[in-house]
Amino acid sequence: MPLSPALSPALAAVAQATRGFLPDDEAEALRAAALGAPTGLWLEIGTYCGKSTVHLGSAARTTGSALVTLDHHRGSEENQPGWEWHDASLVDPHTGRLETLPHLRHTLWDAGLDDVVSVLVATTQQVGRWWTSPLALLFLDGNHTEQVAQHDYAAFARHLVPGGLLLVHDVFERPEDGGRPPWNVFCRARDEGFAEVGATGSLRVLRRP
Ligand code: MG
Repeated sequence: MPLSPALSPALAAVAQATRGFLPDDEAEALRAAALGAPTGLWLEIGTYCGKSTVHLGSAARTTGSALVTLDHHRGSEENQPGWEWHDASLVDPHTGRLETLPHLRHTLWDAGLDDVVSVLVATTQQVGRWWTSPLALLFLDGNHTEQVAQHDYAAFARHLVPGGLLLVHDVFERPEDGGRPPWNVFCRARDEGFAEVGATGSLRVLRRP
């Protein structure tokens, strides 16, 4: 039976209700690409409240893969107070910082994906120091500063198996459409031998030869 890219109505409702920065067409493309990834261990960098995690987690369940989603859950620069993408309702009064982990936990509970998705709460710099597991899929959607975006690519893309998929979000070819770091990471991946196999909106899909 061919794999269907459609989310169940229940999961679609959870994804729709979850806060995030993933347009519907990119969510569909993300899930369709994941359904074509090798089975194995998948890693998402940049979880936020888990919108994309529902799409990737659904595909992981369908294909028998396991998904790890990594985030420190205190928000990127653009999510902090005074910035364009700040959501005041996500501030933890105890720390005064953004806190998205409880929202992710609710998302995974509502989606019934707790047994497919392993939640890893840390910075990518912490995890990059000890990560050794081969990856069948890597979704880069974390901090968009040049330094961290390049770090995340360097630390984790090297673990992709041959045929593994590298997905990069917020890739804008024209500077007037968005920040440079994801575009620079995309170009670096191509320079280093990854083949572009798909593009939808700002989502680029590459495959390790
Ligand atoms: Mg993004």
